[in-house]
Amino acid sequence: MPRSRATAGVRSGIDSDTGQRSVVPPIYLSTNYRFAGLRQPGPFDYSRSANPTRSLLADALTELDGGAGAVVTGSGMGAITTALFACVPTGGTVVAPHDAYGGTWRLLDALASRGQFTLELTDLTAPDAAARVREVAPDLLWIETPSNPLLGISDLGALVTAAHAVDALVAVDNTFCSPAVQQPLAWGADVAVQSSTKYLNGHSDVIGGVAVAADATLAEQLRWWANCLGVTGGGFDSYLTLRGLRTLHVRMRQHLENAAAFVAAVSGHPAVDRLYYPGLPDHPGHALAARQMDGFGAIVSLEVTGGEPAVAALVNGLTCYSLAESLGGVESLVCHPSSMTHAAMPLDVQAAAGLRPGLVRFSIGIEDADDLVADVLAGLDRAASL
Ligand SMILES: *Cc1c(COP(=O)(O)O)cnc(C)c1O
Repeated sequence: MPRSRATAGVRSGIDSDTGQRSVVPPIYLSTNYRFAGLRQPGPFDYSRSANPTRSLLADALTELDGGAGAVVTGSGMGAITTALFACVPTGGTVVAPHDAYGGTWRLLDALASRGQFTLELTDLTAPDAAARVREVAPDLLWIETPSNPLLGISDLGALVTAAHAVDALVAVDNTFCSPAVQQPLAWGADVAVQSSTKYLNGHSDVIGGVAVAADATLAEQLRWWANCLGVTGGGFDSYLTLRGLRTLHVRMRQHLENAAAFVAAVSGHPAVDRLYYPGLPDHPGHALAARQMDGFGAIVSLEVTGGEPAVAALVNGLTCYSLAESLGGVESLVCHPSSMTHAAMPLDVQAAAGLRPGLVRFSIGIEDADDLVADVLAGLDRAASL
């Protein structure tokens, strides 16, 4: 019987244990598995290739993303590396957003510099993005929407159509949304990639990744490459991530509700120069986000008037937001992209990407919304009174 994503997240793998009939599936930490006799292997032989706990997580994520198969990796970057190797032939071409996640940009740039493939960076939120994809006719189109940290929205349907018209594969980094908020495969993408470090696990205690493929052949190639590269995820991490996944839908509901309350409270504050959140009607990607996302996510960026000194006044003294990188955990975080997540970008490159020194990014957690609002308003008052 088909079941909703919320049900799948809670129940996937539950009651699957045949040994002791445990409700929650057991964790397998063994690196290797005994043969029944000569030439009689079981379903598992060596945990880099396959591990029972990791397989349960992969099955759960396959169902949540509506795919045909998945590979679970030791980090989001492991999943991205795997997808690149599975989708791009040597000497091929990749089109990727000019504002991709820093680690993704570094990997693409490093592989392109070694001659692995040709890299075309472009603004995928621009109106001519689909035309540009048709013109370049790449082997792989890489999409990340919403973008980081300015929350630009790319048109999944239009970009997939353009890519498939020139026989390109499409991979979407869905880390900012999780399948609870956006389903890239339903828009026709071939691979959905996530850093499970973020919303999927949701508790800021596991580094992990996943790549889910729309068809079984590509799923097999992803598993083959992850095993070959040696980037598959561990049993313990898989167990924790499966545990985190159980609450994904209720967590996301609270994340979204708190983010909306946060935005309503800070908009119009004298210290806020600009507010970036796709739920705002004047956000350039608002209509698109309303169409292709279930909710507007829980990452909010804002620019304070007064540059870096105002940022310091805001973030030093917050009690409900930890000043830290990463996102998607139950606890709220604040980060200063210019000096933290995007510090590797030279200042002129930051400026060209619209990333100003007064920009602050919030990952809105699931604490009480009134506490989050009171804390950020006090911080913005400090910034305004400089
Ligand atoms: C964090 C992140 C990654 C990388 O994931 P790791 O688990 O840190 O390797 C990739 N893409 C996006 C959008 C991210 O936020």
